[in-house]
Amino acid sequence: MQLTDAFGRTIKSLRISLTNRCNLNCIYCHREGETRDIKNEMSAGTIANIVRASQVFGVRRVKFSGGEPLMRDDFEEIIKALPDLKDISATTNGTLLAPRAQSLAESGLCRINISLPSLSPEKYRKVTGGEISRVLAGIDAAVDCGLVPVKLNMVLLKGINDAEITKMMDFICRYEGKIILQLIELMDFRETGNYKVNINEVEKFLESKASEIKERAMHRRKKYFIDGVEVELVRPIDNSHFCANCNRLRVTSDGRLKPCLLRNDNLVDVNNKEPEEIVELLKLAMDKREPFYKG
Ligand code: SAM
Repeated sequence: MQLTDAFGRTIKSLRISLTNRCNLNCIYCHREGETRDIKNEMSAGTIANIVRASQVFGVRRVKFSGGEPLMRDDFEEIIKALPDLKDISATTNGTLLAPRAQSLAESGLCRINISLPSLSPEKYRKVTGGEISRVLAGIDAAVDCGLVPVKLNMVLLKGINDAEITKMMDFICRYEGKIILQLIELMDFRETGNYKVNINEVEKFLESKASEIKERAMHRRKKYFIDGVEVELVRPIDNSHFCANCNRLRVTSDGRLKPCLLRNDNLVDVNNKEPEEIVELLKLAMDKREPFYKG
């Protein structure tokens, strides 16, 4: 039994927001589409129940996001409470990671994505309000603890970091294949239109440098192999392939199934529900799922 919507898209993974709280204030952040202050964060038990219910439909992959997932002191407990899965990952700003990378790995976290919009300490501070040295320590700790491949998420911002792609590739080269660079097209959630880069030009640049190009099934993302480093390009905007191949279901930090990042009018509440009930609610969420960008 699978979770397939009317557009033939089968859910393969859950993207669970653990909290809306964050210790940074990134100028571009979409907060996983959560627009309001959320106080009643899901418990570790509810999260485990949602994952258990989705397993009935063959879902074996979970990614944690937020807000900043490491703002949850019980992140390790949340991971330990999960049933057996193929892949447990998280996306983090990395600033709180260094002291917890080991305990997260021991709890069962398999790998991690770390947001790094710039390598310049000044630019990093301007974009996020944070200290880059803490992120760099987090990256090293993640690699040392085997949370690999570490994906460095770089949302492209015109006039801020669009000239830094080569520098970022040189940076990850030092990690000898343990880090992948993920270049992400800006989704304009916060009137950040002025920062939008021409993603076709980025694609052409990568094509001109690559010795090999592969396409992932997930969102049909392209992977470029350039001078020993791997670079992935994520193009969510006006991209019917992005939606047509979307195989993830989101869960908000207060326990509502969120069938689409870009919509908030079709949520399904599963907070504090038992797994049997959640099984039925997962089916209901499928009825509410449709591609935002249609072909
Ligand atoms: N605090 C964590 C972090 O910084 O990675 C997790 C939350 S953040 C919302 C999750 C992911 O969304 C990050 O990879 C980030 O780069 C990406 N993201 C945030 N805002 C975005 C935007 N406006 N357009 C595209 N991607 C965005």
